[in-house]
Amino acid sequence: MSPVDNHAAALTVAKFGGTSVADFTAMSRSAAIIKNNPAARIVLISACSGVTNLLVELANGVTEPDRRQQLLTRLGQIHHNVLSELQSPENVASKIDSLLDSVSTLADQAASQPSVQLTDQLVSHGELLSTHLFTRILNEMDVDTVRFDIRDIMRTDSQFGKAIPQPEAIRQLATDKLRPLLENQVVVSQGFIGSDSKGQTTTLGRGGSDYSAALVAEAVDASTLEIWTDVPGMYTTDPRIAAAAKPIKEISFSEASEMANFGAKILHPSTLVPAVRQQIPVFIGSSKAPEQGGTWIRESVDDAPLFRALALRCNQTMVTLTSLNMFHAYGFLAEVFRILAEHKVSVDLITTSEVSVSLTLDQTDTGGGAPTLPPKAVEALSELCRVEVEQGLCLVALIGNQMSSTKGSAKQIFGTLEDYNLRMICYGASPHNLCFLVKEQDAKSVVKALHQKIFE
Ligand code: ADP
Ligand code: ASP
Ligand code: MG
Repeated sequence: MSPVDNHAAALTVAKFGGTSVADFTAMSRSAAIIKNNPAARIVLISACSGVTNLLVELANGVTEPDRRQQLLTRLGQIHHNVLSELQSPENVASKIDSLLDSVSTLADQAASQPSVQLTDQLVSHGELLSTHLFTRILNEMDVDTVRFDIRDIMRTDSQFGKAIPQPEAIRQLATDKLRPLLENQVVVSQGFIGSDSKGQTTTLGRGGSDYSAALVAEAVDASTLEIWTDVPGMYTTDPRIAAAAKPIKEISFSEASEMANFGAKILHPSTLVPAVRQQIPVFIGSSKAPEQGGTWIRESVDDAPLFRALALRCNQTMVTLTSLNMFHAYGFLAEVFRILAEHKVSVDLITTSEVSVSLTLDQTDTGGGAPTLPPKAVEALSELCRVEVEQGLCLVALIGNQMSSTKGSAKQIFGTLEDYNLRMICYGASPHNLCFLVKEQDAKSVVKALHQKIFE
């Protein structure tokens, strides 16, 4: 076995989110986690907390010069604050400054003509900046560390803002370019960003660093994927919504995938897809308190409770299509989905009645906001049926096991919700979830009420 194969026997890919690399103190805490774990040889990090939001605002085109300057100044401060704490900032200062200059130039371009391609190029700077600083911090802690440009291996298609990764190409590129580096050092690289076959920068969508880390873990046959964030694991619901939420010690891939998919922000929705393909156990913990432990996500776990957790996803768009022609006819839904596919509209949930079908649209790209139906799709659908679009909705999902085959579970849930108006309910397709739409203003109290009834 070569030394690299030996590493593969206990190779951890560790990902640190924005709050875990927010400033010098957070970065140093995260670096100590790497230093203390010899198996953690690949580290993917996000941009410093808040930076991607600033970059997205610039990328959307800030025409007002004062506001643009304000955003650029704030970006400069965040990165210079870290530089000022380094023992030898001179090595990285020029790289940070040239990236900040590049942000300024691209922001000018975006102010006159924003585009999805430009947005990806601009927002990628957050991760390009943070990785320079984090690499330097590890080196100053005597951990031999090299910075690696993930765009050399993270091959995606050219769908800017929500690019689709190509796992086979990523595996091949990682074998050629990343693996040889692992022999004697730690590699620090960027989450969230990638590159298409022409070398143009792409992004995997907001929160995409978790997904990047899972893709890299898959490509190098890692034995563990660690996601370090600001909470010690996955909870029964977002602890910011229900303070009584409880940490989950162990959860199955299927339940955790449902959680991620239905909006538990702690994991990007696609994160577990590569982990499941390669059966890589995933650990989630807090970089502020690693000693508290966290959640293990694995193929099978001892415990499979009827109700596991609640997830919430806002910014939902619901489309209702009504046509009398649908009544006992065939081919109507096929035509609807043909039109949606032609306009690259991805559908999330769906329910039908005799003469109508309601569906929700999949999440939007790095540019942000609620997803919308492209005007051309509305036009084509309007020739077939009446089209109504509603926004300001949130999706609440209850995740569990055997819910659809357990008597009385619906009563417990809906009994608690008698004071709320439920817009759309999906139940039965999966034994692991029940979900419904509620008005945005009701969403948090619905989650709190359900959490109290079921978990407290
Ligand atoms: P990072 O920047 O590290 O990727 P995120 O903000 O994307 O962190 O995700 C962590 C946040 O996810 C937590 O602060 C918490 O508010 C939220 N969250 C949502 N659902 C859950 C859940 N079920 N358990 C724990 N945290 C959750
Ligand atoms: N920095 C990116 C974002 O804020 C990606 C990530 O943090 O996962 O969305
Ligand atoms: Mg995240």
